[in-house]
Amino acid sequence: MLQIMQKLASRMGLTMTRCPVCGVITDNIHNSLCPACADEIQPRTGGYCPQCGIMFGTNEDPPTHCAQCRHEPPPWDTLHFYGQYTGRLRDLILSYKFNNGFGRTHLLADMACRAFKGNNARIPDIIIPVPLHTRRLLWRGFNQSKELARILGEKLDRPVLANGLIRTRHTLPQTRLGLAERQVNIKGAFAADSNKVKDMVALVVDDVYTTGSTLNECTRTLKRAGAAGVDILVLARAQQ
Ligand SMILES: [Zn+2]
Ligand SMILES: [Zn+2]
Repeated sequence: MLQIMQKLASRMGLTMTRCPVCGVITDNIHNSLCPACADEIQPRTGGYCPQCGIMFGTNEDPPTHCAQCRHEPPPWDTLHFYGQYTGRLRDLILSYKFNNGFGRTHLLADMACRAFKGNNARIPDIIIPVPLHTRRLLWRGFNQSKELARILGEKLDRPVLANGLIRTRHTLPQTRLGLAERQVNIKGAFAADSNKVKDMVALVVDDVYTTGSTLNECTRTLKRAGAAGVDILVLARAQQ
């Protein structure tokens, strides 16, 4: 059915494809969202803390530092994110990660870039993806953070340090663990080469911020290696 419609559409000069989130046939360009999904997957532009991304109020409220970040801020300087990890944005990210969604990297990188530029963010010296452990990389076939970072590097015209952070040991998947267990599981799991990151402002890229434990450890590792600053860019921020 889709193939017939695609043939007809291409004769008319249109491109027909399925929406990567809900699967309806859409005449948007390949890998773009249908109107209903595009309408729901809108960027968060206000009503959040710019350091940890916790959300309150609405898009119309200005970003404001939360009480937790005023007293005990996370180790990074700024967190940029596109939207809340829920609904169709969550579906899109899950299908990207687990359903051979490699072709959607450009769509997601566009969204990450929009979130970054919408914040008048400082331009990093280097972009570093959160590394995936080799065993999980073999199973999944690609590291979603690395692919996002690669395209972001092109869009922002900044160098990507694909191995700026490396895993030093295997860790259990964080999704199976509670907050305290996550912190223990990830502690000391990364290393950074100080020759490459010293005095640099790094932008660390990942797909989802869940509890922040992994990003916390990545930031501490980079700062210990001498990074001058660390900002974080994720597609989605989960609310606990
Ligand atoms: Zn859709
Ligand atoms: Zn905060």
